[in-house]
Amino acid sequence: MAVQWKEVKESFTLPGPYFPNQQPAECGHYYPDVLTLRDERKSDGTFARILDCTYCGQYELLLDPRHLPRELVRKLKRTGRDIAIPEAEVANVRKKRFEKMLSGNKKLTDKTLHSLIETAVRQGAETIELEYVTDGLEVTYMSGSFGISEVIDHRKSIKTIIDELVTQAKLEYKTRGTFKWIYDEREYEVRAEEYESFGESAFRLILKKSKQSA
Ligand SMILES: [Zn+2]
Repeated sequence: MAVQWKEVKESFTLPGPYFPNQQPAECGHYYPDVLTLRDERKSDGTFARILDCTYCGQYELLLDPRHLPRELVRKLKRTGRDIAIPEAEVANVRKKRFEKMLSGNKKLTDKTLHSLIETAVRQGAETIELEYVTDGLEVTYMSGSFGISEVIDHRKSIKTIIDELVTQAKLEYKTRGTFKWIYDEREYEVRAEEYESFGESAFRLILKKSKQSA
């Protein structure tokens, strides 16, 4: 599976959390938006953790050496710093962590319409776009102008997903349909549209929380 960043604009905010019960970092944002760059010993002898956040930029937290592993304290005293991620690589590392999170531990063959909607809900995406590409089916999760896409190259999964979508939204004889979806005890209304893209069928799913859900 190939995952790629489609478009990243300064103005978007991905809500996070990215998985259930995820706790935010000190700035209120979530891993992997927030990553630890390094721990260091400041010139005044105190210890600090330097973090990098997509939204807040770099910031530091004071560390209490009594709560740090002894090995780390020794290293900080000796060398002044313990690097987790080199500054120049943080964007790349973050992208990789997002990709890993998106693909999860699921096998490709596990992809179903349900797992796509589940991923969208977890990512805070409100639209899913499905388009056939050379390598398979490209799935893009859109949140505002921000999108993360993955390509499903497993033929049987693609067929399962499209068959289920067509059945659920009753797209056999029309190009638009709506169906209900329960996820995490919440009811979602999914509006599906079928359109043509380069001579092939493509689909757009718009997710909305149902009003009547608690
Ligand atoms: Zn932040």
